[in-house]
Amino acid sequence: MRAMYYEAFEATPEIRTLPDPTPTPGGVVIQVEATGLCRSDWHGWMGHDPDIRLPHVPGHELAGRVVAKGSAVSRFRAGERVTVPFVSGCGHCGECRSGNQQICEEQFQPGFTHWGSFAEYVAIDYADHNLVHLPETIDYATAASLGCRFATSFRAIVDQARVTGGEWVAVHGCGGVGLSAIMIAAALGANPIAIDISDEKLAFARQMGAVATVNARDVADVAEAVREITGGGAHASVDALGSPVTCFNSIKNLRRRGRHVQVGLMLADHATPQIPMAQVIGHELEIYGSHGMQAWRYDAMLAMIAGGKLAPQKLIGRHINLDEAVPALMAMDKATDLGISVITRF
Ligand SMILES: [Zn+2]
Ligand SMILES: [Zn+2]
Repeated sequence: MRAMYYEAFEATPEIRTLPDPTPTPGGVVIQVEATGLCRSDWHGWMGHDPDIRLPHVPGHELAGRVVAKGSAVSRFRAGERVTVPFVSGCGHCGECRSGNQQICEEQFQPGFTHWGSFAEYVAIDYADHNLVHLPETIDYATAASLGCRFATSFRAIVDQARVTGGEWVAVHGCGGVGLSAIMIAAALGANPIAIDISDEKLAFARQMGAVATVNARDVADVAEAVREITGGGAHASVDALGSPVTCFNSIKNLRRRGRHVQVGLMLADHATPQIPMAQVIGHELEIYGSHGMQAWRYDAMLAMIAGGKLAPQKLIGRHINLDEAVPALMAMDKATDLGISVITRF
């Protein structure tokens, strides 16, 4: 198979021909039809993710067709259209048994713990517990865009922040996660506020459902600006970027008993940010992490897509090929693109 491959962190990845994968007894091999490019792939390539062992094939947001399955797989067959959450649960640890496969103790993550989907084929373990059948109405590129950012935002907004109609929801950072969070919050009847440093991204956020925007470069105090718009602070707030500044502002801009959800990764020298803890205590704020979404929660998300309430395809920017993905991956930390780049040609 053709695949993107690197032997050292920060070294230019190459496109190589590698042996086709074979399924484990509980796993499948998927022919990749579409796979999204994500800032997490950049973090991995930089060496920020301790799960990655070299040499490596990145890629974790994928959709495709099952082409081979292990002897123990009973729910999926060759030829079926599927996608998979980027965190796949083992199915038997305490977290998986409690329905929280997204924080499984022995998680399988394509493109991190194992070789990923920037390739013609990818092997996925624990298939019966994690694969999701794709309705015919959802194309592969859209499905690939769900697996990481959109599903993560869905869990962050719906399950962690418990957003309901009429609430103010501040979203810090308008990349893939932030724009998804805005669309999902708007679909629930809430009032999303988009915060970013790019007017272009803020204009796009309005198209996705933001009712107000704040350009963090234009105001002295982002939290104060959100407080003004909302008459006292947001009910819920998401750091969709992952930086000490956006994390701090996302907590600081909450009203009393507000909920902060940290979705953007905080790695390397960002791992221990400052938190306004006096406010967390005095105002009884709630602070959550959010890490992917379980396969069994996809039903709720797919139903909202089928019903036209959510349109994740609006977040797709460019369709690119595997060779074009190399420079795109290396520049991911500086990406100014509106929308997600998806590899659809291998
Ligand atoms: Zn598990
Ligand atoms: Zn991702």
